[in-house]
Amino acid sequence: MQHRNRFLWKLFSGYAALLLLGVLVTGVTIERRISSDALRELEAALEGKAIFLREISLKPLQGVQVAGFPAEVAELSHASGTRLTVITRAGAVLADSHEDPATMENHVSRPEIVQALNHGRGIEMRFSQTLEEQMMYVALPVVEGGETIGFVRCALPLTDVKRRLAELRAIIGIGLLVSLALSLALGWVLARRITWPLMQVTQTAELIAGGNLDERMPVQGTDEVGVLAKAVGDMAASMRERIETISRDRNRLSAILAGMAEGLVAVDAAEKVVLLNHAAGRMLGVKPEDCIGRQTYESIRISGLVEVIEHTLKHGQMTEDRLTLLDKNQDRTVDVLTSPLKEDGNRIVGVVVVLRDLTRIRHLENLRQEFVANASHELKSPLTSIRGLTDTLLDDPQMEAQTRSHFLSLIQQDTGRLSQLINDMLTLSQIESSEQTLDLRPIDLADLLRDETAALETLAQTRQIDLNADIPDTPLLVVGDDAALCEMINNLLDNALKYTAAGGQIRIRSWADGNRISFSVADTGVGIAAEHLGHIFERFYRVDKARSRELGGTGLGLAIVKHIVLAHGGEVSVTSTPGKGSTFTVQLPSCQ
Ligand code: ADP
Repeated sequence: MQHRNRFLWKLFSGYAALLLLGVLVTGVTIERRISSDALRELEAALEGKAIFLREISLKPLQGVQVAGFPAEVAELSHASGTRLTVITRAGAVLADSHEDPATMENHVSRPEIVQALNHGRGIEMRFSQTLEEQMMYVALPVVEGGETIGFVRCALPLTDVKRRLAELRAIIGIGLLVSLALSLALGWVLARRITWPLMQVTQTAELIAGGNLDERMPVQGTDEVGVLAKAVGDMAASMRERIETISRDRNRLSAILAGMAEGLVAVDAAEKVVLLNHAAGRMLGVKPEDCIGRQTYESIRISGLVEVIEHTLKHGQMTEDRLTLLDKNQDRTVDVLTSPLKEDGNRIVGVVVVLRDLTRIRHLENLRQEFVANASHELKSPLTSIRGLTDTLLDDPQMEAQTRSHFLSLIQQDTGRLSQLINDMLTLSQIESSEQTLDLRPIDLADLLRDETAALETLAQTRQIDLNADIPDTPLLVVGDDAALCEMINNLLDNALKYTAAGGQIRIRSWADGNRISFSVADTGVGIAAEHLGHIFERFYRVDKARSRELGGTGLGLAIVKHIVLAHGGEVSVTSTPGKGSTFTVQLPSCQ
């Protein structure tokens, strides 16, 4: 507030100083003028009286005895209120209205007399010892035949004039003081009126400068301050717009950087990290906020990467490299691409590093290779067997009918296996590739379980297995694909039947649990050893290959189950005790 008032004070004090000076000069000029006018007036009046006195003094000065001359002088003095003196050429006082001439000293050297003699008129103001007052004297020579024969002098005390002048001075002084006070007050109001809008503009401009860009200018109008306010307001608006654009762009960029699967690191010419997105942080095992603003060698600390950055900074060339980064769980293989950032043609101002994590791609590649190897292997054994059997059949046309038919039934079994294998592989790839194309609709899982159990009832009886279901009558609604869910239930029941010996038991249960619908398939079969439990949902994984094959298994059943459950947003788990049996439990999101 202090400095804002300063302008007002500057303006006002300048104005006040000018005003004071003006009043002072005016006062002094008026005072001088009035004083001189008053004196001149007095002078003229005295001169008039002196002329008159000169007339009546002529004769006495010529030496003619005029009876009653002193009385005449005294009377004239009384009538005009003026002291009158008649002086001879030699300076002797011939008559004086106020004193006895005999007691008066020679007046020849009085300044007014000297002036009158030399210039024809003498005026003097001085303190009269005789009357003890400040007086004005006007003296005129009395001339006879070209010769000065004496002088007449009129005098008046200045007290009166001075009193009048003092009165006038007081009136003028009061008038000037009043007008000074009024002008100052008016000046203050005007100065405030001028500075107030400026203060408002300054205040608002300060708020704007402080970052409050939504502040509105309080001043309007077409004068300079109004124009200034508008200009500042417009400036703030355009700044706000620019800042909004910049922050929008920055947010967009941050979102893009954060969402990128590739790691991105930007380093300036001094090798300080200016940007490091989350993906890069993940790959390099660092927190982006810890690295930004710090040197690469103390924040990233991966010598291979730091070297590549330094190399690019030094030579200004794009560099490609592959780094193996040690991670807690697994080693990461990362492709590094560095490009120099150039400004003004060739000046290198930094480096941009793009990191691509190849670990997952590698992992997927391995899985695919593994799958291809497993699938080929699985396909190869029945094909080899079929080929061997057909070769034998062709080589021996005379083969016994019984043997031939045995061979043909073996071929039939193998082709059955092949077809099962291919069906399972197709199902798996379909589920994997078309999660979105699942025909999802509300389905009563209890109904599905009842149907699938009923369909296997006969098979279970043949194998002397007790199949019982504990399924509630109320509907258990899930959102799912009818065919896929049937396939999943079927695979679990099929496994339970396959791996449970005659006399065993299979129990199917189903229940609603909060926002989940669950069902379990529990058998009293061979069970699964703990070391296999983590693998049985993998493709082609079988605990006992020969047995599975013998039972017509492909090793893909549980992999299909897992993919169907995951595609429905559910979970599958297993508990098992070797020799006692296994329980598979599936949980799916409920839609009730
Ligand atoms: P398969 O076609 O061989 O049955 P799956 O993927 O269905 O393949 O099962 C993988 C392996 O898990 C089987 O080979 C088997 O060893 C084991 N397994 C699956 N279900 C059961 C079960 N109910 N009881 C015991 N072992 C099971």
